[in-house]
Amino acid sequence: EVQLAKELAEKKDTAPETIFDKIVRKEIPSKVVFEDERVLAFRDVSPQAPVHVLVIPKARDGLTQLSNAREDQEALLGHLMYVASRVGKDECPEGFRIVINDGKHGAQSVPHLHLHVIGGRQMQWPPG
Ligand code: 5GP
Repeated sequence: EVQLAKELAEKKDTAPETIFDKIVRKEIPSKVVFEDERVLAFRDVSPQAPVHVLVIPKARDGLTQLSNAREDQEALLGHLMYVASRVGKDECPEGFRIVINDGKHGAQSVPHLHLHVIGGRQMQWPPG
């Protein structure tokens, strides 16, 4: 177990960085909704609803997509969902939707984990 923990700790995120790293570093402007040491929530540049906020981990650390999550990232994943719930509750009192697109069939376009918080209008089901 010690060896496994060491390997995980040393495992580097070798994927090229994305535009979200530049947003985290404030090299590209974004409309920030919430921020703490671990996460950033900002408005999507191409909103699909009156409210469309992305919640991301500031340090990607291998989280190019949800399915790459490691067990030692469970607390971070919970924090991302908690922050998304606060954004949704604050901005969409009548309800909202949280979406995580994963990989090709999930229609993911940016390989840096992000939760979409979408609301401010009636959603439909099933999604496309
Ligand atoms: P995905 O398709 O990967 O689930 O979602 C990526 C999201 O990032 C899209 O909704 C897209 O509009 C948003 N996005 C891409 N580039 C930027 C950017 O430079 N700024 C902001 N605020 N959102 C972006």
